[in-house]
Amino acid sequence: MQTIGVIGAGQMGAGIAQVSAQAGYRVLLADVSLAQAEAGRAGIGKALGRLVIKEKMDAAARDAALVLIEPVENVAAMGDCALVIEAATERETIKRQIFADVGKVLGSDAVLASNTSSIPITRLAQAAPDPARFVGVHFFNPVPVMGLIELIRGLATSDETVTRVEAYAQALGKRVVRANDAPGFIVNRVLMPMLNEACFALGEGVATIPDIDAACQLGLNHPMGPLTLADFIGLDTCLEITRVLFEGTGDPKFRPAPLLIKYVEAGWYGRKTKRGFYDYTGETPVPTR
Ligand code: NAD
Repeated sequence: MQTIGVIGAGQMGAGIAQVSAQAGYRVLLADVSLAQAEAGRAGIGKALGRLVIKEKMDAAARDAALVLIEPVENVAAMGDCALVIEAATERETIKRQIFADVGKVLGSDAVLASNTSSIPITRLAQAAPDPARFVGVHFFNPVPVMGLIELIRGLATSDETVTRVEAYAQALGKRVVRANDAPGFIVNRVLMPMLNEACFALGEGVATIPDIDAACQLGLNHPMGPLTLADFIGLDTCLEITRVLFEGTGDPKFRPAPLLIKYVEAGWYGRKTKRGFYDYTGETPVPTR
């Protein structure tokens, strides 16, 4: 059985550990401390428990998956891993330090992958022990539910690395799409300009919040409107990614909408702060403009 290392036991790392264990991989899970890694595993136990309650999984399958996940003190335990996936906080200095640490123990044919949403893979690869065995694997949130992985190759990523990570992603039952190392990859490159444009439209008084959302939801047959979705993702995250697109391409078409900047400056980040384009303090969301 192959062993996968997952670094970062937050939202994404826990999801990646969960789906890997469900696919039969043994998983070593690390965070800033053993306690944090154990908290990540406990969260996975709860998520799997909810699947059992909903009768989407039986108790034996839950136990079989959970037993495969081992919280570890730090990345020094990952010497036997065929694949290590970094899903730590989106800060380049943190990721670079992790690559240096795991590089000390990583096997000579092991692959190191990053789940970064916005940092160029080619640049990150410079901090990896071997850029040929470094690749981006961009999962979507929540990992157990979302069926897509964007596979991003850096300039030096080898064909063999791509093939191996593709086989892993397919074993998880995910659809893999290949993207070159460009700002926003595919999904955010296409999505963020739409969300940003909805903010421009609102700021320019084209329509109200509920009408912009209803227009896109019903007119484009999307599951939710762009302002509702932006609140879900977090307006701070939307702004951050839009800035990456803007700065990474130098193209003014990606400039962030002034209203989006204003909301973020006000600390109105969306659902996580209970206020964004909607107010979430009551039972149903209420438009804030
Ligand atoms: P999160 O804040 O939920 O989790 C990050 C975890 O990394 C935390 O548990 C933190 O303690 C841990 N961490 C920080 N420094 C560490 C270190 N030195 N060693 C080990 N662990 C460390 O964040 P998240 O949403 O899970 O995001 C993780 C990564 O996934 C980021 O690169 C993010 O851009 C990317 N991502 C996020 C989403 C999303 O929708 N949240 C989607 C795709 C990709």
